Amino acid sequence: MEKNIFEKIRDKESDADIVFKNEYVTAFKDIYPCAPIHILIIPNKMIRSLNDVEKDDAIYLANILISAKEIAEKFNIDKSGYRLITNCGKDGGQEVQYLHFHLVGGVSLGRMIGLPKNSQKIFKEF
Ligand code: AMP
Repeated sequence: MEKNIFEKIRDKESDADIVFKNEYVTAFKDIYPCAPIHILIIPNKMIRSLNDVEKDDAIYLANILISAKEIAEKFNIDKSGYRLITNCGKDGGQEVQYLHFHLVGGVSLGRMIGLPKNSQKIFKEF
């Protein structure tokens, strides 16, 4: 099966601005940044989404969190603050089918997430 874009970036078969790499994770700049700092962190093991994570993957997840902290320090947003997000599935807005975490910062991000305008109505129906 053909590798997807994040597998190719991980394997250095596709260009990306890699900002951090170790045995367990690769981190690179998002090509369409949503904030002044927007880094994607992926496990070096192919895991499709958070739904596919297994207990044995704990070392990858730990490295994602620890590298997020280190990258935030490297980009000088550790003090000002940042957000770490993973999108899962259709409603979560996941476009690339390879588990990844968005590290965003460098601007005040406001509270939580952008919801559709009719979200209050949807809450009532849920
Ligand atoms: P998601 O919607 O959570 O699946 O996010 C996918 C992210 O990958 C988006 O923010 C894209 O801008 C980003 N992206 C897609 N292709 C590339 C690429 N070749 N290099 C860097 N970021 C990418």
